[in-house]
Amino acid sequence: MKMRAILPGLVAVALLSGCQNMDSNGLLTSGAEAFQAYTLSDAQVKTLSDEACKEMDSKATIAPAGSQYAQRLNTIASALGDNINGQPVNYKVYMAKDVNAFAMANGCIRVYSGLMDMMNDNEVEAVIGHEMGHVALGHVKKGMQVALGTNAARVAAASAGGVIGSLSQSQLGDLGEKLVNAQFSQRQESEADDYSYDLLRKRGINPIGLATSFEKLQTLEAGRQSSMFDDHPASAERAQHIRDRMKADGIK
Ligand SMILES: [Zn+2]
Repeated sequence: MKMRAILPGLVAVALLSGCQNMDSNGLLTSGAEAFQAYTLSDAQVKTLSDEACKEMDSKATIAPAGSQYAQRLNTIASALGDNINGQPVNYKVYMAKDVNAFAMANGCIRVYSGLMDMMNDNEVEAVIGHEMGHVALGHVKKGMQVALGTNAARVAAASAGGVIGSLSQSQLGDLGEKLVNAQFSQRQESEADDYSYDLLRKRGINPIGLATSFEKLQTLEAGRQSSMFDDHPASAERAQHIRDRMKADGIK
């Protein structure tokens, strides 16, 4: 699926770099090399995340600081700690029905009110822990590179330092949307689940919320659209994995 999205961009890159005489296979090979050669630095990822987060915020309805939603999220956030691998985090609630949450590499964590309505605090903690895992384990950075790869012509044309300046407001918005709806691999999802489990344990929070959040979402069609609850691996298997770990750790 990702390949389909990338290919048109690769062709465009190859054309820009003056490979007009190559056959179509050659174009793709050359484009693939150009894509692979392009790697975002951590500083670039952070700056892009700052911009994408700002753009997402500007389009969202944010729960006011004194609201019940914001206060509840503050309590949840303090249980989870104030950083991801040393990167300070900041939280906001988006007032929207989506059952979703996301975290970016700059510590931008956003939770949709639809998810908060459906989950208890323990489950929201588990979901946020999972999203933090995608950041901590580098999945979000990879996803950002893939998202930019779909716009590879622009990326290739820009100098390494000039990528950010070369993105328009709407492209930053697109980037944010892609991160929010990121399709992670089955392996990445499992890794993020385990990260959340370990984080919850470390913070003295019962990891049962991970299992029950999966079980709640199993029946929810809308859950399939969120980055956490993609239907692979199956929610039931993910819940069982958490319950198995709890049993092994002697947690009831
Ligand atoms: Zn996920």
